[in-house]
Amino acid sequence: MMEPSLFFDIGGSHFRYRSEEGEVHRLKTQRWENQMLDVIESHRGIKRIGIAFAGQVFNGEIRSAPNIAVEHQNIQAFLECRFPGVQVRIENDLKCAALAYRQRFKYDTIGVLYVGTGLGSASVSEGKIVRGCGNMAGEIGHVGYQSVPLVCGCGKSDCLELFASGSGLEKQRHLFGLSDLSVDGWFEGNVQERRTAETAADALAYAASLMITLHNPSVLVIGGGVWEDNPMLREKVKPLIAAKTFPPAYKECRIVDADLDNAPLIGAALLFE
Ligand SMILES: [Zn+2]
Repeated sequence: MMEPSLFFDIGGSHFRYRSEEGEVHRLKTQRWENQMLDVIESHRGIKRIGIAFAGQVFNGEIRSAPNIAVEHQNIQAFLECRFPGVQVRIENDLKCAALAYRQRFKYDTIGVLYVGTGLGSASVSEGKIVRGCGNMAGEIGHVGYQSVPLVCGCGKSDCLELFASGSGLEKQRHLFGLSDLSVDGWFEGNVQERRTAETAADALAYAASLMITLHNPSVLVIGGGVWEDNPMLREKVKPLIAAKTFPPAYKECRIVDADLDNAPLIGAALLFE
C-alpha cells in the first residue's frame, strides 16, 4: 500500500491537489507555497509529496517559471527541512503528464505536445522521461521556425511558440491588429487573420512532426487549451503532420487528443515509481 501522500499540480492560474486516493481539489493559485503549506499541515502523517510544476525544474530546484512567482527556488529542500521524514519530488508538469499517458496507453515510448499559453512537449522513451543534461529536453516551443517582429519569453524572435500558442497568438493579434476571435474564427476572417491561423496550423504540425520524427513514439498525445478549443485547427493540423513527418515513423505513431482530466497530477504520483 502507498504511504500517506499528497500530490500537487501548480500552474500559472491553477493550484490542484489530492491525497493518494482522495478527490482532486482545485483552487486558484495565489501564493502557492503558502497554499501548499496549509494543505500539508492539514493532513496527518504525510510521507511523500509529489509536485507537477509549470516551469523548469532540475534536481528538486525550480530553475525558471515564466508565469509563477517563486519564493523558495529549492522547494524540495525547503519542504523536506520543514517536514522532516517527508520525501519530496518535483518535476515539470508536462513531464508528469507524459508519465500519466505512458500509464494510460501502456507503451514505453510516447510523446505529449501541449498547446496552451505556451507550446511545450515531453517524451518518455523506453519507459524513462527524456531529460537531457539540465532537464530541459522538450522545449519544443523554442525551436526556430521563422522570424517575426516579436520577442519570445526566451529572448528569440523566431520561436514556434510565437506562432502556435495562446501567448504567441495574442502577440500576433496585437502586432497585426487582428480581431478578437479564436484561431478557428480567424480561418474565416480577413486575409491577415487567415494567414495567421494557417501559419499556426503549419507551426503546430511542424512541432508534432519533429516529435514523431525525432522520438519515434508509439503514441503522440496532443492537448492544451488552444487545441481543445479549436476543432477546425485540429482538422487542419492532422494532414499537415502526415505530410511533414518521416513516413515510417508516422505510420507507427497513433496521434490522439489528450483525454485525461488531471494528467500532471496523475504523473506526480508516478514520480515515486
Ligand atoms: Zn522562445
